[in-house]
Amino acid sequence: MSLPPQAELFADGALRGGWWHVAEPGRIVCDLCPRECSLKPGDRGFCFVRENRDGEMALSTFGRSTGFCIDPIEKKPLNHFYPGTPVLSFGTAGCNLGCQFCQNWDISKSREVARLSEVATPEMIAAAAQEHGCRSVAYTYNDPIVWAEYAIATAAACRAVGIKSVAVTAGYISPSARAPFFHAMDAANVDLKAFDEAFYRQITYSQLQPVLDTLTWLKNESDVWFEITNLVIPDANDGEDDLRRMCDWILQHVGDSVPVHFSAFHPDFRMQDRPRTPHATLLKAYEIARQQGLQFVYVGNVNDVEHQSTYCPACQGLLIERNWYQLGTYQLQSDRCAHCNTQIAGHFDEHPGTWGRQRQPVRIAAQTPQSQSSIPADRRTEATVSIQEESMSTRATNTTPIELSAPQRRAVHQVACEVLAATTKGRSPNLSDMDWHGADKLSVMGAFVTVKRHERLRGCCGTLGQVMSLSEAVLGAAQRTASDDPRLPPLSPTELRHLHVGVTLLSDFEPVRVTGRNRIDAVTVGQHGLRIARGEHAGLLLPSVAVDNGWDAETFLQQVCRKAKLPVTAWEDEATELLTFAG
Ligand code: SF4
Repeated sequence: MSLPPQAELFADGALRGGWWHVAEPGRIVCDLCPRECSLKPGDRGFCFVRENRDGEMALSTFGRSTGFCIDPIEKKPLNHFYPGTPVLSFGTAGCNLGCQFCQNWDISKSREVARLSEVATPEMIAAAAQEHGCRSVAYTYNDPIVWAEYAIATAAACRAVGIKSVAVTAGYISPSARAPFFHAMDAANVDLKAFDEAFYRQITYSQLQPVLDTLTWLKNESDVWFEITNLVIPDANDGEDDLRRMCDWILQHVGDSVPVHFSAFHPDFRMQDRPRTPHATLLKAYEIARQQGLQFVYVGNVNDVEHQSTYCPACQGLLIERNWYQLGTYQLQSDRCAHCNTQIAGHFDEHPGTWGRQRQPVRIAAQTPQSQSSIPADRRTEATVSIQEESMSTRATNTTPIELSAPQRRAVHQVACEVLAATTKGRSPNLSDMDWHGADKLSVMGAFVTVKRHERLRGCCGTLGQVMSLSEAVLGAAQRTASDDPRLPPLSPTELRHLHVGVTLLSDFEPVRVTGRNRIDAVTVGQHGLRIARGEHAGLLLPSVAVDNGWDAETFLQQVCRKAKLPVTAWEDEATELLTFAG
């Protein structure tokens, strides 16, 4: 079996990979994960990024990433690993699992390694983490096990300068690779997808037992701090018996102090046939875990400060208040409860970090000397920005729709593209010479910028709710779309040339005053967008969404309820505020 050679590169920059053996002349078997792909020359493994190059294993994603972003550590999620600190996060392409519900499928299933990737050596990443004051670097977005050599080399570079390393992984790794991979890490979040071999086999195309082996290994044979995430999927892995058996197993094999995160599913990739996880289901999982004896249990992807906060297992006092990724009350003194002095499991600084919930894209290549690079020069070229126009709605004022002239349309689109590119590259937008042809003075009720790549959504965010200038609306929407769409990774500089951009200007917000099924008649598909609100829940769908999906008015109303995490019949109720708008 071959271990990874020291940074030996093929001519195109791919790394001579490790963990493989020769099965017969020319054919090699990958020993990195339990899938054990058998590859003849030219074949790629299930993960797509490891391949047989003339009888040797090659890793095609060494030194390449989908882009870098600074996140709160709580987003990984890790709640007991230096709370409140920033973590420099990145991923590459490919995955060794085939989850039908994958929430990062555009990365994990990417087969466009060369076009997707930003180039950064391990040393550049460590230096960037230092420059930005990050406590750690996270190997995330796609499973770092399939790019183990890159993750290990980066972790070593980080350790040399005092930066911690965090693996966000499904834990599907072979015994021979487990120690080299995890010994390079300081912390991990392991995704335990279910407690059922049939679920693993049918829904993720993998196996449960190797994941359990990884968890027991981490507990018994490493110093890695780890937490467990379980994505709770309606009618798939949310049975009470399964949840109880899982918690029992965790308690017996990993102990009561490992934090467990129950996270809400949203329909994605090949699992669009079921709703988001109800909040009540997460609370049921939370209660089961607490009843079974787990000390630190959290719910994720929902608004729930009570169940996202940390409590002392001895005195039950509030230790760390969390609202999503934002810390509030902090009652830890180093690693001890400030109320009763009980030691709390995890890694804590004397004081919490103050990063908050922000998400900041970072351009690595522009910040560190290229002389440190071991990447071939032809792969360092920065992408040319060439974002293409897809569409633009031209109705613009609150009450009186107006038509933008062709030069105004071009100007608005140009501004959106410049702001997207600038935000993605971490620079200020260059708008000083921009001629808006008067469009910037127009008033709108909001704007959305939609970015697609090959018809797949790469980001869509907006600003709305009050009369604002068109320029303010478009600038804000483009900035958020580039970096803040919570459903998708931030845009990467190298994908800019492949993106199509649409701008939608919002106007004519009208409350729907009728109730019940009469509301169907108040909605005109193709003309109206919908905004719905009830209590803390609110959602919005642009007019084009109904058209693109071929929905009738009733389906459109049901879907906007889903978007707002409301029951699909909530649109009928008088207590639900419904507005139509033009866009
Ligand atoms: S790491 Fe990739 S190539 Fe290796 S066994 Fe797993 S899926 Fe196959």
